[in-house]
Amino acid sequence: MSNYTIISPVTEQPIQDIHLADIDETDVAILKAQHAFESWKKVTPGDRAKLLRTFAAIVESHNEELAQLEVLNSGHTIGNARWEAGNVRDLLNYYSAAPERLFGRQIPVPNGIDITFKEPLGVVGIIVPWNFPMPIAAWGFAPALAAGNTVVLKPAEYTPLTAIRLAELALEAGIPEGVFTVIPGKGSVVGDRFVTNPLVRKIVFTGSTGVGKQIMRGAAENVKRVTLELGGKSANIIFDDADIEKAAAGAPGGVFDNAGQDCCARSRILVQASVYDSFMEKFEVAVKKFVVDDPSKESSEMGPLISKLQFDRVTDFVPAGSPIAFQGSKPTGPGYWFAPTVLTPKDSSDRAYREEIFGPVVSVLRFTDEADAIRLANESEYGLSGSIWSRDIGRAVRVSRGVEAGNLSVNSNSSVRYWTPFGGYKQSGLGRELGPDALDAFTETKNVFFDTQN
Ligand code: NAP
Ligand code: MG
Repeated sequence: MSNYTIISPVTEQPIQDIHLADIDETDVAILKAQHAFESWKKVTPGDRAKLLRTFAAIVESHNEELAQLEVLNSGHTIGNARWEAGNVRDLLNYYSAAPERLFGRQIPVPNGIDITFKEPLGVVGIIVPWNFPMPIAAWGFAPALAAGNTVVLKPAEYTPLTAIRLAELALEAGIPEGVFTVIPGKGSVVGDRFVTNPLVRKIVFTGSTGVGKQIMRGAAENVKRVTLELGGKSANIIFDDADIEKAAAGAPGGVFDNAGQDCCARSRILVQASVYDSFMEKFEVAVKKFVVDDPSKESSEMGPLISKLQFDRVTDFVPAGSPIAFQGSKPTGPGYWFAPTVLTPKDSSDRAYREEIFGPVVSVLRFTDEADAIRLANESEYGLSGSIWSRDIGRAVRVSRGVEAGNLSVNSNSSVRYWTPFGGYKQSGLGRELGPDALDAFTETKNVFFDTQN
C-alpha cells in the first residue's frame, strides 16, 4: 500500500493523502471496465446521449466546487479553473450528440450492398498530465464514452482531485459502474500497466515527449492504438504590419497563462526587426502589469508552478548571466512562484530558446522577412501551436500554411476550441483530439458486404 501526499503549490503545505493503486488493483479495474464494456456498447445511442447530457448538467451544477478544487490542488487561477470545469461540461454536451450521429457509409459495390460501421474499441486508457487535469481528461473520456468505449483514467500524481470527483459525478449521472474509472497512481505503475495490459485497446497520452515515445514503443507490443499530445515550443510571430499594441498586450497571456505550464505556450516570440523596439517597449509594460498572485483571488492572472521539482527545472533554464531583458513580479513567502521572465538570446542556439521549459519564461528573437520568420518558427522538433500577427491577409495565409504546426491562430493567441481539431506536427504528437472527427480515434471501421445474389 502506498500513498501520495498532495502538496499545495501555493502554501507548500500538505492537502490530502491519496492511495496509489498497484498493478493488481489496476488489473482489477481494467477487468471491470472490460465487463462494463459488454453492456455499455449495447446501450442505445439515444440513451447513451442522455446519460452524457445528464453528466454534463451535473458537472455544470458543480462548476464552482470543481474550480475551487483545482485552485486548491493545482494552483490554477480561479478564472481559469472555472473555464476548465466549463470545458468538461462543453465536451460532454458536444459529444453527447455523437452516439446518435455515428454514421457509417453505404458504398456502391457489384452484386450486393456494402455498409461500414463505427464500432467502439473496448477499454480505453487515458493518461493525464498535471497541467490541465480537467480539460485533458475530458478531451479523452467524452468522445471515448460517446463512441461506446469504457474508460480507465490515470490522473497525474500531483493533481488527482478533480478527476476523482468527476468519476463520482459520472456515477451520480447514472453512468454505470465500471464505465468510467479513475485510478490514481504512479505513471510507472498504473500508466505503464495501461500500456502492457492487453485488455486496454487504446492509450490516450498527454505529457512529455520522452514518456510519449516510451508509450508508443510499449504499445507496439500489442499493436495498441495511441493518441499522443506531447510538448511544444510554439512561435508567436509578429510582423511589422501588425497591430503592435494588441500583439504586445496579448503576448504575456499567450505564454504565461497557467504559469507557462501549457503545451501551447507561445514561448518563442519572433518579431520583425523594424518593429522590435516598439514591440519590446509595449511588451515590457504588459509583462509588468501581469498579475501574479494568490490564484484564489479573482484578479490573479498567474499562480505558482505545480511543484518544487518543476520550480527547480524552470530555474535551471535561467542560470546567472542569462540574457534577461525584463521580468514581471511575484509574491514573496511560500509557494513555487516564478516571476514572468523575458529573455533575449543572441541567436536560436540558446538552450532556453530551443527546449520546452514549461514555466513562465519566453525568448524573443528578431527576424528579417517572411521567409526568415517561417524558417525560425520551423527550426524545432516540435510543432503544436503558434500565432501570426499581421494585417496583411495574404501574408497571414502564406505564413499559416508555411508553419509546421497543428494549431495556429492569426491575430490571436488562443489555440483551444472544442469544436476544432487539436494536435501536433512532428514530435508534438500523433493524432488529433476534439472537433467533429475525434470519434474516429475511438472507433474501428468495420466493413460488411451483403451478397444479394444468394
Ligand atoms: P510526464 O512524466 O510525461 O507525465 C505525464 C503523465 O504520464 C502523468 O500522468 C505521469 O504519471 C504519466 N507517466 C509517467 N511515466 C509514465 C510511464 N512510464 N508510463 C505511463 N505513464 C507515465 O510529465 P512530467 O514528468 O510531469 O513533466 C515533465 C515535462 O513534460 C514538463 O516539464 C513538460 O515539459 C512536459 N509536459 C508536457 C505536457 C503537455 O501538455 N504536452 C504536460 C505535462 C508535462 P505521474 O504523474 O505519476 O508521473
Ligand atoms: Mg515524469
